[in-house]
Amino acid sequence: MSIRLRTIFLVILTNLLIILFSVIAGTYYVRENILSSQETDLSVVADIADHFISSEIESLKLKASIIVNLLSIYNEADWDVLLLREKNLNPEFLGMSVMSAERGIISSLGEESAPLSIMEDRFIRQAFSGESLFTSTYPSNSGMVFYFATAVPANENMIFVLTLPGMYFSDLVSTFTIWETGHIFMTDNEGNIIANIREAWVQNRLNFIRMAETDDSFQDVAAVLRRIVNGESGIGYFSTDGVPRLCSFRPITSSKQGWSMGIIAPLPESPFRDIDRGLLAVGFVAIILSIIAAIIASAFIKKPFEEIAALKEEAEKNSRYKSTFLANMSHEMRTPLNVVVGLTNLRMEDSDLSIEVHEDLQKINAAGEHLLGIVNDVIDISKIEAGKLDLMPVNYYSASLLNDIITFNIIRLGSKALQFIIDIDENFPEELIGDELRVKQVLNNLLSNAIKYTKEGVVKLITECRQTEDGNFMLTATVSDTGIGIRDEDLKKIFSEYNQVDTKANRNIEGTGLGLAITKNLVEMMGGNISVESVYGVGTSFSVSIKQGYVNDMVLGREMIENLKSFRYSNEKQQNSTKLVRADYSSVRALVVDDFQTNLDVAVGLLSKYKMLVDCVTSGQEAIDLIKSGLPFYNLIFMDHMMPKMDGIEATKIIRSLNTDYALNVPIIALTANALTGNEKMFLEEGFNAFISKPIDIYRLDSILKQLIKNDREKSS
Ligand code: ADP
Repeated sequence: MSIRLRTIFLVILTNLLIILFSVIAGTYYVRENILSSQETDLSVVADIADHFISSEIESLKLKASIIVNLLSIYNEADWDVLLLREKNLNPEFLGMSVMSAERGIISSLGEESAPLSIMEDRFIRQAFSGESLFTSTYPSNSGMVFYFATAVPANENMIFVLTLPGMYFSDLVSTFTIWETGHIFMTDNEGNIIANIREAWVQNRLNFIRMAETDDSFQDVAAVLRRIVNGESGIGYFSTDGVPRLCSFRPITSSKQGWSMGIIAPLPESPFRDIDRGLLAVGFVAIILSIIAAIIASAFIKKPFEEIAALKEEAEKNSRYKSTFLANMSHEMRTPLNVVVGLTNLRMEDSDLSIEVHEDLQKINAAGEHLLGIVNDVIDISKIEAGKLDLMPVNYYSASLLNDIITFNIIRLGSKALQFIIDIDENFPEELIGDELRVKQVLNNLLSNAIKYTKEGVVKLITECRQTEDGNFMLTATVSDTGIGIRDEDLKKIFSEYNQVDTKANRNIEGTGLGLAITKNLVEMMGGNISVESVYGVGTSFSVSIKQGYVNDMVLGREMIENLKSFRYSNEKQQNSTKLVRADYSSVRALVVDDFQTNLDVAVGLLSKYKMLVDCVTSGQEAIDLIKSGLPFYNLIFMDHMMPKMDGIEATKIIRSLNTDYALNVPIIALTANALTGNEKMFLEEGFNAFISKPIDIYRLDSILKQLIKNDREKSS
């Protein structure tokens, strides 16, 4: 996504969140306030409506009392005329009647009153005893009606009954409108609706309390109505047809029959709707404004970002150029350096050199080696920076790897008063999958640093390997020393490139400051990590963990570990080997095949003491090519067992299969770090003439040489 789009997106998202929060908070706060003010408003309207209805009831009573007073003045014979006149004066009355308990209807006009028998006992009793009161709605000839009855004064056995239309009170209150469809209703003391703008509700004597008995959807309404019927006043909430409604209710003050009234208003039609619409409109406008703001802001923000991106790209390009340049240049330097190292090595073997020339050659050789090391480091770090360093995992034997590391570092110990302690887990797997060369590089770097930065005391290597949950192995190695140590403030820096710390104390020690940076990168590429602990002046301990692949369950075992650790013994013997009387094999030419240069150096060193001419190659294929060509003629071949690509056994098989007299008979001696006693048979069966385990035991070497060269000479004589 482009920077601009990202900015627009972020600004809009932020604004949306703010708007959403404001709308929700605003709606909640405003709704709460509106609701309480609506409750108050509805209660006030209910008060007014109550007052209005009560006045109407009182005025009806007044009118009735005027008529009954007139009745008591007139003779019974004139009552019809009187009623006619009053009916004309009060057209809202459907009918008027005078009734006697014994004689029934005495005089009547318009809609007849219901016969006394269908009127309630209680009502009749109260009316005859002198009270004025209304009935609930009753069905009659002209639909629903109310009856109003009052006793005729001075005539205890007579009552005057007015008939009013069922919609009388509905018509009265229909002028009240609350919001859009809010209305006033009245109920009698049983919950029947006796006034409502919906005529059908009155005509059918709708009763929600009864309806709730068969229909659950009326439960809420019925609950409010029950409170009304109980004569409570207050506020109720319910919903009908999914519409939430607010209801303010109270008993009608002037009703002696227990009538109540209520004002219902649907909430969605309340000011909520306007507020919601208003807030939505504000939100919508805010979103539009935020989009515009985002577009404008992005235009301003884009520029610096683009500049940064351009700078970053430029820097990356330069870094890539630098890395490529360094890699190319270093590669170019490697060829002449190899010539320097190779030729000085070769020349140093000349026996007729003066001591001075030999020493000079040694210095040139050492300088070349040192430079080659630096060049290799630069190539590695350049590749890492350019992301071009790939791991090349292969199956490898851990014994071979450990042997190479141990041999390499023993030689580095030189004459230093250092004890080199090795602790290898017996259960270390025999075979692993990983980039053997890079693992070697990591461990060699840590060990060579430990040796480099320790004058005396101990350098210790502890290795372990444990199985991980995913079935692989986690190889851990700890290299500790009793050297100069690293200051706390320097600990963080040592893993960064070209960083040498404590340069004052280390001024005589060679280094580029690249080793640990490469090591850290390699370890991380191999799915592990590196850590360091150090006490300045006391010593340092580096720990690495490296993930390696699983091959099988075979482990090195105690015997192999002891064999690997026997280097010290072998090393000492080598140094004291003056006692060994070596034969002169100056007519013998040997070929040593080993992928690891240090092993070649060691072999050459040991063999040249016999004045032999020794050639070295680093792969099985090179050895095959030499034997195939027949030149030069070798009297002996020392073949490393574990080598990448083609191992020693395979190379030997191919040599023997060349089928020439020379290829079939040239003695081949296996050099192996994996030599368990029982394996000798295997090597002999594979076409080898003997085997020597690494580190090379000079006495065994001597006896094998004697035996094989003797055989050879016997054969040729
Ligand atoms: P160098 O080639 O200089 O040894 P490294 O990257 O291998 O570069 O190490 C970086 C720095 O870390 C070294 O210059 C040294 O100061 C410090 N260092 C590394 N290993 C040790 C150690 N075992 N003891 C003390 N200092 C160490």
